[in-house]
Amino acid sequence: MEIKPFQKKVYLSSPTMHGDELKYMTEAFETNWMSTVGENINEVERIAAEKAGMKYAVGLSCCTAALHLCVKFAGERLYGKPQISHGALEGRRVFCSDMTFDATLNPVVYEGGIPVFIDTEADSWNMDPIALEKAFEMYPEVKLVVCAELYGFPGRIDLIKQICERHGALLIEDAAEAMGATLNGKQCGSFGDYSAISYNGNKIITGSSGGCLLTNDIEVANKARKWSTQARENAPWYQHEEVGYNYRMSNVIAGVIRGQYPYLEEHIAQKKAVYERYKKGFKDLPVKMNPIMEGSEPNYWLSGMIIDNEYMCRQVRDDSKALYVKEKGKTCPTEILEAIAAINAEGRPIWKPMHMQPMYRLHEFITREGSGRARTNAYIAGGVADVGADIFDRGLCLPSDNKMTAEQQEVIIEVVKRCFD
Ligand SMILES: *Cc1c(COP(=O)(O)O)cnc(C)c1O
Repeated sequence: MEIKPFQKKVYLSSPTMHGDELKYMTEAFETNWMSTVGENINEVERIAAEKAGMKYAVGLSCCTAALHLCVKFAGERLYGKPQISHGALEGRRVFCSDMTFDATLNPVVYEGGIPVFIDTEADSWNMDPIALEKAFEMYPEVKLVVCAELYGFPGRIDLIKQICERHGALLIEDAAEAMGATLNGKQCGSFGDYSAISYNGNKIITGSSGGCLLTNDIEVANKARKWSTQARENAPWYQHEEVGYNYRMSNVIAGVIRGQYPYLEEHIAQKKAVYERYKKGFKDLPVKMNPIMEGSEPNYWLSGMIIDNEYMCRQVRDDSKALYVKEKGKTCPTEILEAIAAINAEGRPIWKPMHMQPMYRLHEFITREGSGRARTNAYIAGGVADVGADIFDRGLCLPSDNKMTAEQQEVIIEVVKRCFD
C-alpha cells in the first residue's frame, strides 16, 4: 500500500453537525431568547434526564461546572455549610479516579478537598473496585468518591456504587465521555448520587460547549439552578445568602445540543464501526483494544489500544518530551503517534494518570496492595508498579472521528502495522 498524508486532517474526534442545530439556534435568535433562559434549555434538560433515566437535569455552561456543583453540594451535605471563603471540602480526603482528564477532580480542589487517587483496573481501564475497597480500609472516614468512565467504556461503576453505599459514601459520576453508554442496561450518568455529562466540542454529541448535572434528588437540582445563576434569594432586589456562580447554559448553545440529541445513536453506531475496524485490522498484531466489560454497551467515543509488554521498544518520557529506541519487531506509543501525525491524522496519549502529574505527586495514591508511590520525574517503561502508569506507558488513543472513511482508516491501520516492522 502506498501511504500518502491525508489532504484533510483526520481528527481524534471532531464535531458532526446535521442541520437541526442551526434551526434551533435561529429560533433562539428570532424569538430573542438570546439568554440563559429559553425553550432550548428546557428541551435539553428534558431530553438529557429522559435519556439517562434520571428525574432531573440542570443545563450548565460545561461539565466541569456541573461537577463543581455536585462536589459543592456533596460537601455541604456531608460536612455542613462552610464559612464564606472556605471550600465545602476543606481539608477532607476525596477518593478520585486516577487515569482521567483533570477536569474530573479539579472541582474537588476548588472546594478545598484533597484528592486521593485510586488505581485503575487493568481489565476495564476504569477505577479499580478492589483498590477502592483498600482505600476505604485505610481511610474509613472518607465519604465522597468521584469516578469517571474512560473513553465511553464503562468499568465496574455498579460495584463502585455498592462499595460507596456500604461505606456510607456519596458517589459523583463523571460521565462526560460516556453519554449513551450502558452497563447492565443502565445508562452512564445514572449510577452516581449526582452525575455530570459534557457537550464539549470533541464529545460524542456537542453544543460547542455545555454540560448537565443529573440527579434524582430535587434538592440538588434546585440548588444547582440557584447556585448557577449567582445564588439570588427570592426577593424583589438582589438578595444573597450564599456564594453564587455564573454557570447556566446559554439558550443558543442549548439549540445546538437540542439539534444533536436525535443523532446520538447514529454517532455511537459510527464510533462502534471505527472500533471494530481497528479490532479486525489489528487482529494479528501484539496489541489489545480498550476493554469492553461484560454487560456493558460502550458509546465507543475513543478507540484505544495497548501494546503487549514483550513488543514494547524502550521509551522514556519526562514532563514534556518523549524518546524511544527503535527495535526490530517492537514499537511504543510515541512511535505510533508520530507515524499517525506524519499522515495528517490525530492520535493522543492515554490520559496521564493524576498521581504522576507534577501537582499531585505528593498526594496519596492507592493500589490493590495499599499505598502506591508515584514514579519520579523520568522513568523507563517496563518496570512499573501500578496499572495506570502501565496503561499510560503502553497505550494510546487512535484517530476515532466518526467522519473518517473506511479507506482512511485502512491507511491508519497499515501505518500502525508498519511500526512493528
Ligand atoms: C471532557 C471531560 C470533562 C470536562 O467537560 P467540559 O464540558 O469540557 O467541562 C470532564 N471529565 C472528563 C472525563 C472529560 O473527558
